[in-house]
Amino acid sequence: MTLTPQDVIALEQRYIAPTYKRAPMVFERGEGVWLYDTEGRRYLDFVAGIAVNALGYGHPEMLAALEAQARKLIHVSNLYHTIPHVLLARDLCEASFADRVFFCNSGTEANEGALKFARKWARTRTGNEDKYEIVTFSNAFHGRSMGSLAVTYNEKYRKPFEPLIQGVRWAEFNDLESARRVIWHQTAAVIVEPVQGEGGVQPATREFLAGLRALCDEYGAALIFDEVQCGLGRTGTLWAYEQYGVEPDIMTLAKPLGGGLPIGAILMKEEIASVLAPGDHGSTFAASPLITAVARTVFNTIKAPDFLASVRRVGEYLGQKLRDLAARHPAVVREVRGRGLMWGIELAETRQPADVVEAGYAHGLIVAPAGRNTVRLVPPLIVQAEHVDQAVEILDRIFGQMGETG
Ligand SMILES: *Cc1c(COP(=O)(O)O)cnc(C)c1O
Repeated sequence: MTLTPQDVIALEQRYIAPTYKRAPMVFERGEGVWLYDTEGRRYLDFVAGIAVNALGYGHPEMLAALEAQARKLIHVSNLYHTIPHVLLARDLCEASFADRVFFCNSGTEANEGALKFARKWARTRTGNEDKYEIVTFSNAFHGRSMGSLAVTYNEKYRKPFEPLIQGVRWAEFNDLESARRVIWHQTAAVIVEPVQGEGGVQPATREFLAGLRALCDEYGAALIFDEVQCGLGRTGTLWAYEQYGVEPDIMTLAKPLGGGLPIGAILMKEEIASVLAPGDHGSTFAASPLITAVARTVFNTIKAPDFLASVRRVGEYLGQKLRDLAARHPAVVREVRGRGLMWGIELAETRQPADVVEAGYAHGLIVAPAGRNTVRLVPPLIVQAEHVDQAVEILDRIFGQMGETG
């Protein structure tokens, strides 16, 4: 049975819980940085499944790892040892600040676990039962489960589901003074994205992250970097924190780690891991041999110096092209911000990101909104300069049309 796009949309509206407003096309396959819909239309993909499909679509080595491991063993549970599990953990630790890893299935779960580990560590270490507070920041996005949601800024996401977890304190992103007002001896953890993603593509300043590190050291709190979106090569270095010269105690990963398969990870220093014992945390699906084998291929591909150099080179090119674009359309674009291949185009006050996203679909370009007034570009990390030229040309046309219509 072949379904028309109208059939698919009708089924979605009849059977799918209405938590998403989906785009009007139906995707069927992908190749490199291109997506194809069921009508045979081609789209240049600058969203990559929201910074997930780092190697694009149909990457041969990733597919080979997937097929080989699927034939051997897909899942056995964390009650048993498998080889891909330990090798991926070793690779992640050897390439980062971390000593140990806990695997999970998503970004929100990674943050959920990070908050749990930080609370247990803070209490165990001090014997202070009241040391459970978590400090988070304006425009932060950490996920949708009750703990991660409690430290996510957008009220619209939180309000209908309150009460969430207790002990959350808020401060202003990139405002160290505001953080100093809420970090004290009862703080267990400070959670922050080195480059905010959903909140509007906003890099932290060096002084801010360095100041948080010092405050966490002063008050014995764990510094958690949420690199779910900005980690794993996205900003041009393997980890975003490398560009700041500041190391966390815990770091969460997810989006690109499985190249499209669901996996999250909590990386931590030995000191954090040392308070954990069997039974403290768990997951049925996590760390399966299938996903960890694929993730290891994805990770080692991204980690290669030539690959990261290409992300930096194409990323700088994209940044330059976007700054030129902003200069050509001052009535539409307010500012462009970003690092590596993670860019936000903040629109002028009266402009809607949704209009740019929809016009993109009509022109064969996929972009996504972020925050209230920003268009986000997070293409596959394999994107090349020629694709940047094509994407910026389309945006130039869209902004030109928007500028004419006032
Ligand atoms: C997407 C995202 C999350 C949540 O990840 P899910 O896999 O959707 O649960 C958490 N933190 C950041 C920074 C993210 O971008």
